[in-house]
Amino acid sequence: MALDIATFDYDVLVIGAGGAGLRAAIEAADAGCKVGLICKSLLGKAHTVMAEGGMAAAMGNVDDRDGWQVHFADTMRGGQYMNNPRMAELHAKEAPARVKELEAWGAVFDRTKDGRILQRNFGGHRYPRLAHVGDRTGLELIRTLQDHGVHKAQIEVHMETTITRLFKDGDRVAGALAYTRERGRFQLYRAKAVVVATGGCGKAFEITSNSWEYTGDGYALAYEAGAELIDMEFIQFHPTGMVWPPSVKGILVTEGVRGEGGILQNKEGKRFMFDDIPENYRNQTAKTEEEGWRYVCGDKTALRPPELLTRDHVARCINREVKAGRGSPHGGVFLDIASIRSPEYIRRALPSMYHQFKELAGVDITKEPMEVGPTCHYAMGGVRVDAETASSTVPGLYAAGEVAAGLHGANRLGGNSLSDLLVFGRRAGLHAAQYAKSLAQAPRPDEGEIREAIAEALAPLGRKGENPYTIQSDLQEMMDRNVGIVRAPDELEGAVAALARFREKLKRVGVGGTRSYNPGWHLAIDLRNLLLVAEAVARAALLRTESRGAHTRLDHPDSSPRWGKVNLVARLVNGEMEFAERPVDPMPEDLHAYVYGDKA
Ligand code: FAD
Repeated sequence: MALDIATFDYDVLVIGAGGAGLRAAIEAADAGCKVGLICKSLLGKAHTVMAEGGMAAAMGNVDDRDGWQVHFADTMRGGQYMNNPRMAELHAKEAPARVKELEAWGAVFDRTKDGRILQRNFGGHRYPRLAHVGDRTGLELIRTLQDHGVHKAQIEVHMETTITRLFKDGDRVAGALAYTRERGRFQLYRAKAVVVATGGCGKAFEITSNSWEYTGDGYALAYEAGAELIDMEFIQFHPTGMVWPPSVKGILVTEGVRGEGGILQNKEGKRFMFDDIPENYRNQTAKTEEEGWRYVCGDKTALRPPELLTRDHVARCINREVKAGRGSPHGGVFLDIASIRSPEYIRRALPSMYHQFKELAGVDITKEPMEVGPTCHYAMGGVRVDAETASSTVPGLYAAGEVAAGLHGANRLGGNSLSDLLVFGRRAGLHAAQYAKSLAQAPRPDEGEIREAIAEALAPLGRKGENPYTIQSDLQEMMDRNVGIVRAPDELEGAVAALARFREKLKRVGVGGTRSYNPGWHLAIDLRNLLLVAEAVARAALLRTESRGAHTRLDHPDSSPRWGKVNLVARLVNGEMEFAERPVDPMPEDLHAYVYGDKA
C-alpha cells in the first residue's frame, strides 16, 4: 500500500527555530536553497527567547583592550582546554561581525553614552564583552532573526511539529519524519541536507533552567543516524537559579546580576567567594571588596570580583556553603544587588529579574537579597562537528547551537552561546546549502524505514503500561541525585543501572487518548531521547576519572594530564552505545601565545 502522508521536498531541512536554526535557515535561503524550518513549539518560543544576559563579542566598545585574541584565550581557559581550538578561534573572530549584522537587521541593543553597543561584564570574560538588551537579549535576537527571515520566500515554516527520526539513503542523510503536535498527523520531509539545531537536554534533570522542549531530541536523532556525540559528561550547573518557592525552583537568575555588581553571601553575611580563588585566575581576581567594586564601576586598573569567576567554580562554592550549613533558609545562598545599585538602576538594567522575583517569589530585589542555588543549565557536549563547516561525521548532516559540541570544552562562559548560535548557525546554513547544491540527485528515504518509524511512534498509544510522567520524574530525580554537580563512582554506577531499568520500562510505556492534543503521547516519544542522552552523560561521567570544568568527581578531585588530552566520544555500534577516547584537537602554534603567553 502506498504511503499516505503529507510529503515535502527541500534542499535544506533545518530542525529547530532557535537562534542557531533561524540563522542557518537565513543563510541557506540566501544561498538560493529551498528551506524547510521545523519547530516543536511556536515560532518565536524557542529556548533562545529566554536568554537574558547577552552575547559575547570582543568589540572593545567599553574597554578597548579587548580583542578576539583575549576572547579566544578566555574561552579556552574557561573550557579547561578541552575545546576545539579552531572553533574557539572562529567564534572569537567572527562574533563581532555577527553582532553588528544583527544590529543592521534591526536589533536595538543598549548603548554606551557615545552611541555604540554597550557591553557588560560576565563570568570568565576578562573585559566587559556582552552585547545586551537589558536582560532580554534572547528575545531581541529571536525577534530580529524572525523579522529578517520570515519574509524570505525560500523558507517554509512548520510549527508545532516534532521530528522523530532521520533517514539516510546509503550513508547520506535523506530526510526526516515528523508528527504535528495538535493532530498527530505524520509528515515526511525529504531533504538533501539537514541542519540539527534543536537546543539542549536539561529536562533530564529535575532542577533546571531549561524549558519543556529540552528533551535532547537532536542528540538522539543525530546519534541514531550515525553521528558522534562528544563531551557529554560536561553538564553546566548555573550557580544562580531560584530556590524558592518550590514551583519555580531552577528558574534562572541571570549572571547579569553579578555582572552589574551583585555579590554572593552566606547566612553569616560573609562574601564567601573570596575564600577560594583558583590558581589560574589568581592574577586576574580582586583580593578585596573595594577593588572588585572599582572593576564593576569601570576602573581599568582594578581586577574582577570573585563572583565573576567561571560558572563551574561559583556553583561548587555555593554547593560547599550549603553543605556546610551556611546556606539561606531554602537551601541556597544570598545574591544581593539591592545594597549595591539604586532601585532605578536595577529596574532599568535587570527588568526581567525585577519582575521575576516580584511576581514569582514576592521578593523586591531593589530592597532585599535573592535566594539562589545551582540549576542545570547547559550541555557543553553534543554532536561532534567540523569547525569550518559545522558538518557531523554523517554526509549531509550538520549541527549548530547547543546541540553541537566543541566550542565550549569542559565549561561554557556565559554569553558565548548566543554568539555561538550566530557564528556557527551561519556556517551550518552556508555549508549545508553548498553541499545540497553539489548533489546531482536528491537522496531518497526508504519507505520501509518510514513505516517502521511511524509504527514506533504510535506504539505507546492505547497500550496499558508504564506511565510516561512517572518515568520522567523518576529519571529527573535520579539524575539530580546521582549525576549532579559533584559525582561519586558508586552513584554513577547506580545511575547507569537505573537507566537500564528505565529503558526496559520505556518498552512498556503506554498512554490513553488519541493522537490529537495528547501531551502524554508526546512525552512517551520524547522519553526515548531523554534516556539516551542521560545514558551518554552518566556513562561518560563514570569513565572520566578526573575533575575538570563542569565535571567534578569526589574520588578524583584534581585534573589529570592524561584526561586533559582526550575527548570522550559516544557512538552507536551494533545497537549499543560505545565509548572511545579521541585526542583533543591540537592548538595551532600561532595561537599558543594568546593562551599560554603574555599576550592573553
Ligand atoms: P533553541 O533556542 O532551544 O531552539 C531549539 C529549537 O529546536 C526550538 O525551536 C525547538 O522547538 C526545536 N526542536 C527541538 N526538538 C525538536 C524536534 N524534535 N523537532 C522539531 N523541532 C525541535 N546564553 C547566552 O549566551 N547568553 C545568555 O544570556 C543566556 N541566557 C540564558 C538564559 C536561560 C534562562 C537559559 C535557559 C539559557 C540561556 N543561555 C544564554 C543559553 C542559550 O540561551 C541557549 O544555549 C541557546 O539559546 C540555544 O539556542 P539553540 O538555537 O541551540 O536552541
